[in-house]
Amino acid sequence: MSGPKTHSWIEGLNVYTAGKAKTKGIAKAVKLSANECALGPSPMAVKAYTDAASNLHRYPDPAYSDLRAALGEKYNIEPDQIVCGVGSDELLRLACHAYLKPGDEAIFPAHSFSMYPIAIKSVGAKPVEVDDVNYRADVDNILNAVNDRTRIIFVANPNNPTGTYIPSSEIERLWENIPDHILLIVDAAYAEFMNRDDYDAGIDLVKKSNNVLMTRTFSKLYGLASLRLGWGYACREIAQTIDKIRDPFNVPSSAQIAGVAALKDTDFQEKVLDHTTKWREWLESELNKLGLKVIPSSTNFILFKFEDPAKPALDANNFLTKHGYILRYYSDQGLGNFLRLTIGTENENREVITLLKKFLEE
Ligand SMILES: *Cc1c(COP(=O)(O)O)cnc(C)c1O
Repeated sequence: MSGPKTHSWIEGLNVYTAGKAKTKGIAKAVKLSANECALGPSPMAVKAYTDAASNLHRYPDPAYSDLRAALGEKYNIEPDQIVCGVGSDELLRLACHAYLKPGDEAIFPAHSFSMYPIAIKSVGAKPVEVDDVNYRADVDNILNAVNDRTRIIFVANPNNPTGTYIPSSEIERLWENIPDHILLIVDAAYAEFMNRDDYDAGIDLVKKSNNVLMTRTFSKLYGLASLRLGWGYACREIAQTIDKIRDPFNVPSSAQIAGVAALKDTDFQEKVLDHTTKWREWLESELNKLGLKVIPSSTNFILFKFEDPAKPALDANNFLTKHGYILRYYSDQGLGNFLRLTIGTENENREVITLLKKFLEE
């Protein structure tokens, strides 16, 4: 009498650790642990979302036609090659569901998004983590790990939690050197923050390939993390495969409508980008002045290291938490002496630096 027994690979799974939102004894903590938008949600998205409330009794459009059309227009891509998900997280899981089986392997670089091993293991496949170099994905290390069992390669570009990116020429070189039965997933959750000539989110590569899936999200730049809206772009074959196994109504109407509005809200997008660039530069320079080692970021967050053994990241994290500031602390992933700070409002950014100064001087 022991009840139903799940697969061995599911039994051994760890639940994803989300950025903390609360801390004991503090009524209103400042959450800078999940790379959410410093300026709140897109106001146009909020209005569209509110206006849509009277239609809650209707099932969503299963084809999310308006959203696909809006994305197609914005990026000059074919709407029928776009797939949408409950966050881009769902798309990563669906891709694993569609292309991995027990015994298969999927590769990803160290110090990357912790959802990859969870999604891989959830279908009984084997996660293969390869070394990065200077906190950046290393194409040669990935290629060296490819074998007959490899079916998926994940690269987050720019990467979370390091904030680093690799040029599109490197992603291209990776793609050129793998057989086309391997799916290359380019997770471009922070692509909207990039404006470098040597970077492409993956759109150009998808256009000429039959084995690349680019994933994107509305959670970061657009400030819609709560609505769980992500999208992907791939060749028709891959897009249709993912469509077959997703829930037909996976993306609620509210998310579809808000997503379309957020894409149009260019004022808000510009504000967020200006804010991010300005405060990222300020924070990086202040953290450096405090003797903390900053990994140069291309995103809306900064990873930095505590190098003085007398002042470890764990103690800094406890100190900040006690004062109501929640950053992301890593007890694992080989980042034990790091904290990741999501760029906040002006006041929040200044306060984090003031608190860190106090902690280091104490
Ligand atoms: C935030 C993030 C995502 C997931 O975003 P969703 O909210 O699920 O759309 C995916 N990949 C990386 C690297 C992220 O940082």
